[in-house]
Amino acid sequence: MPGQSKTLEDLFHEVLKDIYYAERKILSALPKMAKAVKSNELRAAFEKHVKETEGQVQRLQQVFKIIRQEPKGKTCQAILGLVEEGEEMIEEFADSVALDAGLIGGAQAVEHYEIARYGTLIAWAEQLGMSEVVKLLQQSLDEEKMTDRSLTKLAETAINACGMKEAAE
Ligand code: FE
Ligand code: FE
Ligand code: FE
Repeated sequence: MPGQSKTLEDLFHEVLKDIYYAERKILSALPKMAKAVKSNELRAAFEKHVKETEGQVQRLQQVFKIIRQEPKGKTCQAILGLVEEGEEMIEEFADSVALDAGLIGGAQAVEHYEIARYGTLIAWAEQLGMSEVVKLLQQSLDEEKMTDRSLTKLAETAINACGMKEAAE
């Protein structure tokens, strides 16, 4: 279809495919991150978000159904890049006291990407008068924001742990 005839509906569908791809990529990356971290509390936070992410994938499938499209993802280069950075960090900072702080930073970059995507999709869905879709996406946006906030709190502990290690040396 030539670009000229594309509509806001098409745009919504494109970005829906983007976040659908991203959520499923996150679903495979998060358990690896949970395994790598030192802090039990942080591990629990990552594991909790795996469960939430499963629900978010299901919500996106409901949204595809509402707009009468097949649930299909479209490669999201942004999430591939962010996940790769996390993997690099696990390799380069393995056994370091700074690994947890690094992975929290990486996870927050992912949450911020999701927050941006959901925020945009909600604005477009509102414009398109899709109130059921808005409700579903808003639930996921709220979870992403809560996760980001919990990670900010956990970051303090992780940063302090680095400080204590350095003071002891
Ligand atoms: Fe998510
Ligand atoms: Fe993307
Ligand atoms: Fe998330």
